[in-house]
Amino acid sequence: MGKIRPLSENLIGKIAAGEVVERPAAAIKELIENSLDAGATAVTVEIQEGGLTSIRVADNGSGIDESDIRMAFERHATSKISREQDLDAIATLGFRGEALASIAAVSRITMTTRTAASDTGLKVKNEGGRITDIQEIACPVGTTIQVNDLFFNVPVRKGFMKKAGQEASAVHDLIVQLLLSRPDVSFRYISNGKTEFHSPGDGQTATALQTVYGSYAMKFMKEVNDHGNGLIIKGYVGIGENGRGNRNQEMFFINGRVMHNKILNEALETACRERVMIGKFPVCALYITIPYEAVDVNVHPNKLEVRFRDETGVYEAVLSAVLMALKEKDAFQHPVEMT
Ligand code: ADP
Ligand code: MG
Repeated sequence: MGKIRPLSENLIGKIAAGEVVERPAAAIKELIENSLDAGATAVTVEIQEGGLTSIRVADNGSGIDESDIRMAFERHATSKISREQDLDAIATLGFRGEALASIAAVSRITMTTRTAASDTGLKVKNEGGRITDIQEIACPVGTTIQVNDLFFNVPVRKGFMKKAGQEASAVHDLIVQLLLSRPDVSFRYISNGKTEFHSPGDGQTATALQTVYGSYAMKFMKEVNDHGNGLIIKGYVGIGENGRGNRNQEMFFINGRVMHNKILNEALETACRERVMIGKFPVCALYITIPYEAVDVNVHPNKLEVRFRDETGVYEAVLSAVLMALKEKDAFQHPVEMT
C-alpha cells in the first residue's frame, strides 16, 4: 500500500484559507473589496479586538441573489470573470473566487443580503466552511457579513496572532488605503465601539485626505495634477514638519487601487529631496491612471505589487509631476485652506 493520499476537501480548504486570510486585516480587505466590486457607495466596517473576535462589513451594493448564495461560498467560484481573455483587463478588485470560501473555512460567518429585485433578504450562516442555516429576513438592499471567532478551528494560526492592538493598527492602515483609493465611497470605520473615520464619499480626494489626516495636515499638502508618458497623475503631496519617520504614508493608487513599486517611491523622494529632512519621508496620495496594458498587477498573489513595462517613463512622469507641484518656492509656507 502506498503512503501518498489525497488531502480531504476540508483540509485543502483550511490550508488555502491560511494563504488568503493571514490575519484579520487580510479578511477585512477581501470583504471591503467585495463590497466595492458590488458597486457599494457606502461601506461600514466595525471590528472588536482588532478583528480577532468580531468583524462586520456592511454595504449597500448589489446584494447576492438567492440562486448564487451557495456558490458564493465555493472555492474558485466567482461572478467576476469567466473567460481567459478576461484576465487581460481585470476591472474588479477580486476575481479568484477564494476569499469568501477561505474566510468561511476558518470562522463563523453570518451573512445577510438582498438584491433590489427581491422583496426579502436572506440570512445565511456558515460555520467552518459549511452552510448551516438559510432564512428569509427583512433587510435593506446590500450585503452585511459578520465574521466571528476568526481561526477558531485553526489553533496554531490563532496562536500566531499579534495582540489585538497590533491587529487593529493593521486594520487601521488598510482602511486608510481603501478610503483614499475611493473618495467617491463613504466609509465608516468603528473599532471597539469608537468611530475612527467617517468619510463623506463626495468624490473629492481632498475631503478623503482630510478625513484621514485632519484639516491641519491638509494645510501642508500641495495638489499634484500632471500628465506625461501616457500617465495621468493627480493627488496631493505633503512635507509637513519636514517629513514623516517612515514610508507608510507614501501611497500610490494605480488605476484606483493601492499598489507598491519602488520606482514610485524613488521618483517621489527624489522630487522632495531638498525639502525633506535626511531620514524622513514625504506624505502623498497620488492617483495614477495608466493604460492596463502598461502594467502587470499579477506579480504577487496579494495583488499589491505592480510592475511597469516602461519603468523609466513612469519614474520621469511621477518625478516631474511632483516637482511641478512643489515648484512654487515657498509652497509649504502658504497653507492651502480647505473649504
Ligand atoms: P471574488 O471576489 O474573487 O469573486 P469572493 O470569494 O470574494 O470571490 O466572492 C465570491 C462571489 O460572491 C463574488 O464573485 C460575488 O459574486 C459574491 N459576493 C461576495 N461578496 C459580495 C458583496 N459584498 N456583495 C455582492 N456580492 C458579493
Ligand atoms: Mg472577493
